[in-house]
Amino acid sequence: MYNNFKQVVAIANQKGGVGKTTTAVNLAACLADAGCRVLVIDMDPQGNATSGLGVERDDLEASTYDVLLGATDVDDAIVATAREGLFVLGCTPDLAGAEIELVTQPDREFKLREALRNSREVFDVVMLDCPPSLGLITVNALTAAMAVLVPVQTEYYALEGMGHLLRTIELVHQHLNRELIVDGILLTMFDARTNLATQVAAEVNEHFGELVYETVVPRNVRLSEAPSFGQPIIDYDAGSRGAAAYRDLAAEYIRRSDLLQVDAFATAKVMV
Ligand code: ADP
Ligand code: MG
Repeated sequence: MYNNFKQVVAIANQKGGVGKTTTAVNLAACLADAGCRVLVIDMDPQGNATSGLGVERDDLEASTYDVLLGATDVDDAIVATAREGLFVLGCTPDLAGAEIELVTQPDREFKLREALRNSREVFDVVMLDCPPSLGLITVNALTAAMAVLVPVQTEYYALEGMGHLLRTIELVHQHLNRELIVDGILLTMFDARTNLATQVAAEVNEHFGELVYETVVPRNVRLSEAPSFGQPIIDYDAGSRGAAAYRDLAAEYIRRSDLLQVDAFATAKVMV
């Protein structure tokens, strides 16, 4: 789909607060630390990935909104972060309007893909931080992506909504993007002290098997503090358990990102 990007991954789950943005920011930073050239595209009007990477919304000359509406090229909107090899296409609250403005446009699902195909920049990984909905912005991300990574909070109702999400992914795969795969499921906010977390993790592993990342992100207060300092966890507290987890995840991601072994859509049908 792209000549200049090795991997384009959407971080998606229509549930809010499951760790999408935390994963986008920290996996991206750890991949950059491992030597990858990484772009994070903030697709949530809340702009938490933008601020979490230390970029001020007021300093953006152009945003995801401008790119989706075709007003600006991706390459003109990308800004560097404080970390070498890590870039962001930031977003501002006006992105919320794009959801409606795109509806009447031709090829409305393909806006991001077209914009990325016009880019001349070279990245190992382009990471798309999706909003907590399955609307047109998320569909644009899924249409532009080669893979979707689904963070699942290790809590009650972890799998609630999962069937809906996987069916949406399957529809995009069938009609808009034959290259899209699920890779994979990431357990987040795991609290080893509770039986519940252990049970939920076991249930997710049972449902999704090899799709589940071996790395489990623990609940770690340092991960929740880092965004207010505009820093990825490896800059905010490199010795924390959260930093160790995202480093492990980056290593695992690098190992498996070229592979896709399991038919996730069959799993989706099991869950319907
Ligand atoms: P989403 O993008 O899916 O809405 P976030 O990544 O913003 O979710 O996470 C929701 C909240 O939980 C944020 O306040 C974030 O700092 C916090 N959080 C995310 N992951 C962890 C974790 N592993 N441990 C502790 N807090 C976390
Ligand atoms: Mg988010």
